[in-house]
Amino acid sequence: MPGKNDTRVVKSFCRMCGKCCGIDIQVENGRVVKIGAMKEHPVNRLCVKAQAIPDLLYSPQRITHPMRKVGGAWQEISWDEALDIITEKLAGIKENYGARALVVHLGEPTVGTAATGMAARFCSLYGTPNYTSGASLCFAAKGIGHGLSISRHMLPLSPSYENTRCVVVWGHNPRQADIGEEADIIAAQKRGAKLIVVDPRTIPLAKRADIHIQVRPGTDCALALGLLNVIIGEGLYDADFVGRWMLGFDKLAEHVREYSPEVIEKITWVPADTVRHFARMYAASKPATITQGVSLDHCINGVQNSRAISTLVAVTGNLDVIGGNTYNTPLKQKSLRVKGIVAVDEAIGADFPIFNKFVSETTAMPVADAIITGKPYPVKAMIIQACNPALTWPDSSKARQALEKLDLLVVSDLFMTETARLADIFLPAAVFPERKFIADYATKGIPLLALSQQALEPPADCMEDWWLWAELGRKMGYADYFPWQNADELFAFLLEPSGVTLKQLEQNPGGIPYSQPEQERKYEQEGLDTPSGKIELFSPTLADYGYNPLPTFTSLDNLSERYPFTLITGSRVVAFSHSQHRNVARLRKLVPEPVVEINPEPAGKLGITGGEQVALESPKGSITLKAVVTPDIHPGVLSIQHGWEEANANILTASDPHDPVSGYPGLKTTTCRVRKIGE
Ligand code: SF4
Repeated sequence: MPGKNDTRVVKSFCRMCGKCCGIDIQVENGRVVKIGAMKEHPVNRLCVKAQAIPDLLYSPQRITHPMRKVGGAWQEISWDEALDIITEKLAGIKENYGARALVVHLGEPTVGTAATGMAARFCSLYGTPNYTSGASLCFAAKGIGHGLSISRHMLPLSPSYENTRCVVVWGHNPRQADIGEEADIIAAQKRGAKLIVVDPRTIPLAKRADIHIQVRPGTDCALALGLLNVIIGEGLYDADFVGRWMLGFDKLAEHVREYSPEVIEKITWVPADTVRHFARMYAASKPATITQGVSLDHCINGVQNSRAISTLVAVTGNLDVIGGNTYNTPLKQKSLRVKGIVAVDEAIGADFPIFNKFVSETTAMPVADAIITGKPYPVKAMIIQACNPALTWPDSSKARQALEKLDLLVVSDLFMTETARLADIFLPAAVFPERKFIADYATKGIPLLALSQQALEPPADCMEDWWLWAELGRKMGYADYFPWQNADELFAFLLEPSGVTLKQLEQNPGGIPYSQPEQERKYEQEGLDTPSGKIELFSPTLADYGYNPLPTFTSLDNLSERYPFTLITGSRVVAFSHSQHRNVARLRKLVPEPVVEINPEPAGKLGITGGEQVALESPKGSITLKAVVTPDIHPGVLSIQHGWEEANANILTASDPHDPVSGYPGLKTTTCRVRKIGE
């Protein structure tokens, strides 16, 4: 076991973001002193955040004891007292309003950890269908969109760079989001692959691209349909593959006929000839791969964006080939869900049945409205773990108003976040080197299961995320369902169906591959897990639920004289992960303040020279931040990061309109205006 007075290297993963890079944690005298890349691990190209792990662990701002708010002031209490208060409150809320008055919400740092299953288990036993997570805002739209084409489940396609002849980087900036991926793309280009970048910003890869498409935010689906128009119209698709494996090709061909490059130019700002050039380059390169960012999720038709992209991949014969786009089904582990207790159609997100079905949880996006209006039923309590919705949910004013209205708000986190400040009870959490966890890399394109070893004991009263649910469950009377006393017991239970043991994972720090990454066209042996057994270009599932069964573009013509710019929020920045890490001085030095990027042409007209404070206003609100004038952004677009308390991007965003399938808001299509302060 880890302890003091020891010097050793611990094989772990970095969890400063969801990439889970393999790291060597050097411990001296019980303290983490250095982080290095783990050479045995296939994902090991570390970004700057990894070096800040000790700063996070030993931050003086870290809260290490449970606290309750009394008369507006925080008081330290024991875990026992904290859980007793929560138990009593939850029992009362259930009695007065019903169990569904509780919403549980887990954030990105818990993704892939046992905490998610434990929280969902707790929800079922309490009787609420309202288990929610960061999937309500990130990643799931892609998994659903791709999944609807090739599976009954979330199944995101991964880019494959080996031997590829063409890379399309779509709404994604690897320089900030994934430096290892950027290196792979540049290496592919050096081997002769073409590079196409689709982004309203001139990201670093755009400067070395064969084609840079400055697409109008929110019109990506239309662009993809325009590409399909050219590819199908010019016979550039893989006819043999289409004939054997596709459902609805004729309907698709008919559907895209109206999206000629000339029509697409009017919708997307992309010249018709460029649309043709893009389509021909992508279709003629065999194999070709597409890497898409979360930007495409954050549109009012984000699921259809991903449907359209998976259709492009399929009709060009690039599905599950090395150098094209591959998929991997995660290794089977035991589910912690308790089935048959809660009715999903009573969930707060019942209006999003495909999200509920594919993600196996409900969406949190309607929660703020439900708390404020009491409709469709009262929501009186939330337990939020590792998430900061006061900053990260759309329409922050509404989110804040909702959180303040709750009878009980419990927040478990490392620091006193903007959301934690609104809480009644604060529960201190462990940082990832203070706990073990298992990661499956299937959704990252690698069929690999690996164990992150615990390097340290958590300080003072900080506890592992999964333990909170087990202990609260025991207090609530569900002890039979939470028999695990430590992480090893829980992980052994979870691993049972996988055929992999904890001991094997401990002996293989670089992970255990569970299928051959080089295996192509798995559907030829395994079939496809769609209702028809084919790639569903026409989706009967979407049709059954009343959605457009073909990849369909929804227009959002929301620009006006008053709000002439489209604002994109949420662009990644390598120093931070969402709203986290701005309190780490080493990282804050890299990006000291929030900025808005504006093109010189509109900046000149508005008298903005760069470096001054400007007011950024949308129909929802206004924030003040520094202007950066740069040619690296389309003149009609402004860009800001999310996660800054000083200039909260979500003061400007709205929860409506939203994607009808995923519930995701249009974070990339907010209309706004900008002016110099004082004008
Ligand atoms: S923060 Fe950086 S080093 Fe850590 S997992 Fe993410 S990409 Fe890897």
